[in-house]
Amino acid sequence: MTDIDPRTVPSLFTRDLLALAQRDDFDRIETAVERLAGCTSPIQLTGHTTTVDATTHEVLRHYTTASEPLGRLLIACGNRRASRCPACSRTYAADTYQLIRAGLSGGKGTPDAVRTHPRVFTTLTAPSFGPVHNRPTTRTGKARHCRCGAHHPADHPTLGTPLDPTTYDYAGAVLFNAHAGALWARFTTYLRRAVARAAGLTTAELRETCRVSFAKVAEFQKRGLVHFHAIIRLDGPDGGTTAPPDWATPDLLTCAVRQAAGRVAITVTGDSIGARELRWGAQLDIREIARPDATADGSAPLTDAAVAGYVAKYATKSAEGTGTIDRPLYCTRCKGRGRTPTGGGLTEECHRCAGAGLAEPIADLRVAGHVRQMIRTCWDLGTRPDFADLKLTKWAHMLGFRGHFSTKSRRYSTTLGHLRGVRRTWQAGQARIRAGHLPIDQDTTLVVSDWRFLATGYTPGEELLAQAVRDNRAATQRLKREGDLL
Ligand SMILES: [Zn+2]
Ligand SMILES: [Zn+2]
Ligand SMILES: [Zn+2]
Repeated sequence: MTDIDPRTVPSLFTRDLLALAQRDDFDRIETAVERLAGCTSPIQLTGHTTTVDATTHEVLRHYTTASEPLGRLLIACGNRRASRCPACSRTYAADTYQLIRAGLSGGKGTPDAVRTHPRVFTTLTAPSFGPVHNRPTTRTGKARHCRCGAHHPADHPTLGTPLDPTTYDYAGAVLFNAHAGALWARFTTYLRRAVARAAGLTTAELRETCRVSFAKVAEFQKRGLVHFHAIIRLDGPDGGTTAPPDWATPDLLTCAVRQAAGRVAITVTGDSIGARELRWGAQLDIREIARPDATADGSAPLTDAAVAGYVAKYATKSAEGTGTIDRPLYCTRCKGRGRTPTGGGLTEECHRCAGAGLAEPIADLRVAGHVRQMIRTCWDLGTRPDFADLKLTKWAHMLGFRGHFSTKSRRYSTTLGHLRGVRRTWQAGQARIRAGHLPIDQDTTLVVSDWRFLATGYTPGEELLAQAVRDNRAATQRLKREGDLL
């Protein structure tokens, strides 16, 4: 390659790659890109970090990005969403899987005995806001007609959209999404009460003997409504590390979940819509997660691995499944207000959005009609003073849902931050061992760092290297899958 003059190569990407390849430190550039595992838009940082012995003040390590081949450090973007960064979303899914799995089977600081605690996997759905096109099946799994008379194939775009958009309760649907987080919070309170009642205890007494732990993940249905999948577990007083009391059984937990879900209701009032009661949908699925010693009774048991797999899959999806846009809709200059301050307490019409508050007109969004109507309803309700606290204009692209996609109670298992920290520490340790140093003791050292954000993305040549990393990973996955099939 050294014979080629990069300046004569027409493609910008190839030209840049050739220029990189001719450097003496090309292997370091390659390794740096490989470490990002194919991240789509890495973050470029400049800066330095110094590790000092806390007592002797001896400098144990000094690192500056000035020593990097291109004078800066690349770190993975870490985005959870597959639509933004497939590579980092896979890392996130793998971490979520580990976290959920630890809470079910033990590991990562959670004892193995946790798998004998009563555990259920439940789905809390949204109620109906009007009939939608669907794909009903008979008990034997045969597809039947939709109410509109047609046979809709799976994944058909009309599925989940209203039969009659003019009578569909869009305000109710948006308000449900906007209150989904509050409905969940109330559900957990009622669940503790229901468990206490079943055990003949007060909620204060319950806390002394039993804790209700959970991990939940939100998913958008085709009809644009959020629903939750949750793992709920009964523990001893200190969470997963302590044994639950004898009365705590899967049956008691199942009954308590059913009672609590049925009881949750939030009344929303607004001048424009009157009073509305929001509840979970009637469709409530509660399945016991099989104990490892469970004897199969014919029906396939729900295993720890299957549940962890579901949750990890949903955790990397956002509202993309509904076909909505993946960015906020409000004008960033005026924050959706349509007016900007001019000083002295006065405002003027925002120049960027001409006072509309929108980054782009709702009519121009490339989305399906049903999604557009959900977004429009968010905007209409969100600009009214009675619903200002729901921040519906800010979350219009999420169809009103402003909650977290995955959450867990404090004592469910390890945390994502902890998993990432372990990985980083391990990588840093490995790098030191390779460089011939002894591992640094985290407890007796001081780290002084200064980092500056430079840009996002790769150089064109690095982008080609990243693409090769992605291709390699995809090929490995394919071989692994084929191997599994053999
Ligand atoms: Zn990334
Ligand atoms: Zn239909
Ligand atoms: Zn504006």
